[in-house]
Amino acid sequence: MTIPPGSTIGIIGGGQLGRMLSVAAAQLGYRCHIFDPHEQPPAADVAARFTRAAYDDVEALKAFAATVDVATYEFENVPTGPLEVLGDKLRPSLRSLAIAQDRGAEKQFIEQCGGRVAPWRTVSTPDEVTSAVAELGCPLVLKTRRYGYDGKGQAWVRSPAEAAAAWSALAHQPAVAETGVDFLAEFSVILARWTDGAHVFWDCPENEHREGILRRSTVPCTDLVAVQVEEAREAALSIAEELGHVGVLTVEFFASESGPLVNEIAPRVHNSGHWTIEGAVTSQFEQHIRAICGLPPGSTALAGSGAVMDNLIGDDVNRWLDLVADPELHVHIYGKGDARPGRKMGHVTKVRP
Ligand code: AMP
Repeated sequence: MTIPPGSTIGIIGGGQLGRMLSVAAAQLGYRCHIFDPHEQPPAADVAARFTRAAYDDVEALKAFAATVDVATYEFENVPTGPLEVLGDKLRPSLRSLAIAQDRGAEKQFIEQCGGRVAPWRTVSTPDEVTSAVAELGCPLVLKTRRYGYDGKGQAWVRSPAEAAAAWSALAHQPAVAETGVDFLAEFSVILARWTDGAHVFWDCPENEHREGILRRSTVPCTDLVAVQVEEAREAALSIAEELGHVGVLTVEFFASESGPLVNEIAPRVHNSGHWTIEGAVTSQFEQHIRAICGLPPGSTALAGSGAVMDNLIGDDVNRWLDLVADPELHVHIYGKGDARPGRKMGHVTKVRP
């Protein structure tokens, strides 16, 4: 089914991803309706309509559903039950969301799809943490099964003596214990898939994180990563197919000595794909809109010879005047009020000619 320009796209979540989706949708002639519990989220500034309500407010979601032709989501930490009122207007479907929001279900699913992950266990008691440390060895990382992002909800165990403190740091929430990977590099596969199974990939960005937060994405990737791209794309595509995913899907990988290991799945546009706005013919945001509205795929070719995207984290954004004075930089500022440490406030992209 093709949803024509002039229609309304609902977006659950009003952060920077919703903001950039709304801008891309507007360029194609769509109107966006944002659903978010905050007072004036970044996406509401650039969208036609905004509903402020809690994610589990079923009545508000029903009213929202009645105003939109198709709906999508821009982050994972939304309860799935209430979203059922959106029925088949929701793309990607609730299945993609449900799998991606539980790190245990996610890893199991990745393995079922033929992808490889670092050795892992689910843990929900101190004894299970002790056994996981004995079985997997150190270093390992505990990650809460739900509601983690940007390195939050994670605690490293570098020796067995640290296990109890790490478990306490997670406030004893159900978690996964995962072997620390001595990776060569990190990268992501970003793809878009249509209801008929058509799909496209962008070049894989190589990603650098600091303190669990993405700092820089670079395309093209180094040779170290390039040799692992084919296997990673195969795994990412089989995940997308098993999910029946519609829209953009991002799969983050560690390039390890033994090949690509999946770190996590994001059933949505992703920070490591922001370079596509200026660095590719079609951005991840426009492509997501195209896929959920049933328009044909745009080209994912590089616009130049490569691109580097740097996040502006916390008070990095205070350098905005210097950044906009650099004629080679594309500057994106998300319109968030308070530049708290660790908060993603914007990003800059430089495209190599
Ligand atoms: P995540 O929230 O799971 O994406 O983790 C954020 C970042 O922490 C990753 O991009 C890695 O840089 C690091 N990290 C997470 N899990 C592991 C692991 N098992 N081994 C090594 N580094 C990890």
